Amino acid sequence: MYNRCTKAVLYKDNLEYNLNQIRKYVKKDVKLCVAVKADGYGHNAVLTAQIAQKVGAEFVAVATVEEGIELRENGIKCGILLLSLCTPQEMPALFKYQITPLVFTDEYIKLVGEAAKQACKNGVPGSKEFRVHLAVDTGMGRIGCYPQEAGDQAALIEASGLKLGGMCTHFAVSDSLEKENIEFTKEQFAAFKAAVECVKARGIEPGICSCGASAALLNDEDMQFDMVRPGIITYGYYPDEITKEYLEKTGRHFDIKPVLALETKVVAIRRFPAGKSVSYGRTWKASEETDIAVLPIGYADGLLRRFSPGLEVTINGRNYPVRGRICMDQCMVEIGKDNPDVKLWDTAVIFGPKESGALNTAEDLAKLGHTISYEVLTALSKRVLREIK
Ligand SMILES: *Cc1c(COP(=O)(O)O)cnc(C)c1O
Repeated sequence: MYNRCTKAVLYKDNLEYNLNQIRKYVKKDVKLCVAVKADGYGHNAVLTAQIAQKVGAEFVAVATVEEGIELRENGIKCGILLLSLCTPQEMPALFKYQITPLVFTDEYIKLVGEAAKQACKNGVPGSKEFRVHLAVDTGMGRIGCYPQEAGDQAALIEASGLKLGGMCTHFAVSDSLEKENIEFTKEQFAAFKAAVECVKARGIEPGICSCGASAALLNDEDMQFDMVRPGIITYGYYPDEITKEYLEKTGRHFDIKPVLALETKVVAIRRFPAGKSVSYGRTWKASEETDIAVLPIGYADGLLRRFSPGLEVTINGRNYPVRGRICMDQCMVEIGKDNPDVKLWDTAVIFGPKESGALNTAEDLAKLGHTISYEVLTALSKRVLREIK
């Protein structure tokens, strides 16, 4: 109705293309758990999960219980893995919505166990022998038990009336090709395998074992284990140094396409005399008479302030520089005096796939802002409407 012109256009076919590429790349008997946390890295979690299910993903992964509930309420039937911890207050929802938690520590396992017993008593379907995945910290330094504790933790899980449905770990530097980092990832993998063996030695079936996110699943076939957990590649971006070119060089082919295009429109074109400054701080002044286009997009939309200076936006196939600082809701672009190629209400593309007419990707913006494509994508705020194409 009164939709804003600043929007994120989601190229659904590219999402499906990427997920099919992942399915083809990963060994046949390896399961897929597609990370759709943070609203599918800003791409719409429900849409991503629907397509993930279509290509045969066994799981999708979320960061919060609420994200999991949103998926169930929108008809997602596959497994949902909760990658972060929740509070005891949220635990009843795990059973009601069949969300598989990562667990570790005696206290957390006992709390989930008690919540499961309560759910059983209340007759919640599927709460008996409820499956949880044991998180092992092999070097990420985030969540997980130490590898040598895995056997005891697995035993506690089973003793608490729960079932060990899987084991997982997460790599800290698998996206780097530095020798030291490659070595560290190998050590993490070895520690994880040892933890799995430890559990088996206790006579407990470890279930579905997973360790590889995008980088490791692309770079090492062994690290695909029983299940992989791709995130960023689903959305068309390579993890840091594990690029298309690097994979090609090592005899592997993996092609993906960006999914999301960030667009807005030229809402005013103004003549600036030489010497007139643009935006807060007066960091840029016209050196000669020129025309400035105003775009209704700013850092409150996720166009980070640190992208200026340096950011260029694409209008009708050509890049134009943002001048001065990006404001909360607006930014200004120099189009040059009497430019016949830029008219009022023309579309300006900030980044996106080729089909969107963009000349930049989220990766280009990330480099400019000294960050990673993940942050550029998830920075897009709620007021940026998502349009599925
Ligand atoms: C986010 C996340 C992933 C996906 O990571 P990508 O680098 O985007 O592929 C996988 N596993 C865990 C535990 C995560 O937190």
